[in-house]
Amino acid sequence: MEEGVLSVPGGVSSRHAELAELVEEANWRYYVLDSPSVSDAEYDGWMRELRELEETHPSLRTPDSPTQKVGAPISTEFTPVQHLQRMESLDNAFDEESLTAWQARVERLTERDAGPYLCELKIDGLAVALVYEKGRLVRAATRGDGRMGEDVTPNVRTIQGVPHHLTGDRVPEVIEVRGEVFLPVEGFKRVNEQVVEEGRQPFANPRNAAAGSLRQKDPRVTAQRPLQMIVHGVGGWDGEGMPGTQSGVYESLAAFGLPVSDRYRVVPDFEGIRDYVEFYREHRHDPAYEIDGVVVKVDRVEMQRELGSTSRAPRWAVAYKYPPQEVNTKLRDIKVSV
Ligand code: NAD
Repeated sequence: MEEGVLSVPGGVSSRHAELAELVEEANWRYYVLDSPSVSDAEYDGWMRELRELEETHPSLRTPDSPTQKVGAPISTEFTPVQHLQRMESLDNAFDEESLTAWQARVERLTERDAGPYLCELKIDGLAVALVYEKGRLVRAATRGDGRMGEDVTPNVRTIQGVPHHLTGDRVPEVIEVRGEVFLPVEGFKRVNEQVVEEGRQPFANPRNAAAGSLRQKDPRVTAQRPLQMIVHGVGGWDGEGMPGTQSGVYESLAAFGLPVSDRYRVVPDFEGIRDYVEFYREHRHDPAYEIDGVVVKVDRVEMQRELGSTSRAPRWAVAYKYPPQEVNTKLRDIKVSV
């Protein structure tokens, strides 16, 4: 029989409420103000404790729990935009055991071998959705709470490498592509130096600097920040011709002139996933931008559709997160530039 809210011990429900409030407050500072007040590790610890409490007391897992939601409500500073399809977060794996559990769950649900898998880098930036109609960029929006994002079209138009028009003769009538907007490490240093020169607080890390740079009321400010974008998915593809694999989709997006990473790999099985994860554990600083892990996706689109999503994340993808680094660009750069 399911446990009712009333039968949850008082201490447990008040701890749950306390954690939920801490997380909501942190979400507001992180997603809306671009100025976090706690470390990601501390935040992840609160979320883990919330999930554990809800695992033991499922009645605490209400739709308004932070564990069931994406991001934060949008800022009133921007015009709201409804996404063509919900933008999601990703479930996390922090060790090989949970990565194996993810693969086992995928194979249990689909009742077959789920390989090949597409492995790619988890870029530490912010998610943006771009809509192209008849090949023309008509709208760009932040993820927001997953359903409603913020209209940042003029700002995204200033990002080098984001095409205003798609190329080729197979461009769909309407396509929504998703990707990560980020600041390369060198660009982050320059932005923070400039911010400090202007007498303002430096950004805590490249992710927040990218979000703060993109979410500007004046796109001329965004234009001065060396933002980049890499696309990693589609939210809508109107008409025929969508490839049957994630990797095929990337090939098409690249052919349309969109910026696609050259570091993704398609691997046949778990062995291949493990090799990729271990390679980038060793080569974490090879890319010019910060990564916080690796994303593993089921490559076949048909299987992705079959697996669907939970309330906040696709079942067909998982983020393997590397441990936070003791000494990284974040604190060191702030100290240098103050
Ligand atoms: P997430 O960052 O763990 O993962 C989901 C996001 O990964 C996607 O929305 C997408 O934008 C991004 N991503 C990057 N590369 C990708 C790729 N190759 N393919 C697909 N997606 C890719 O989840 P989240 O919901 O954006 O944020 C939660 C995390 O943010 C927390 O774990 C925490 O680390 C941090 N956070 C920190 C604070 C704080 O106060 N310090 C507050 C809120 C969130």
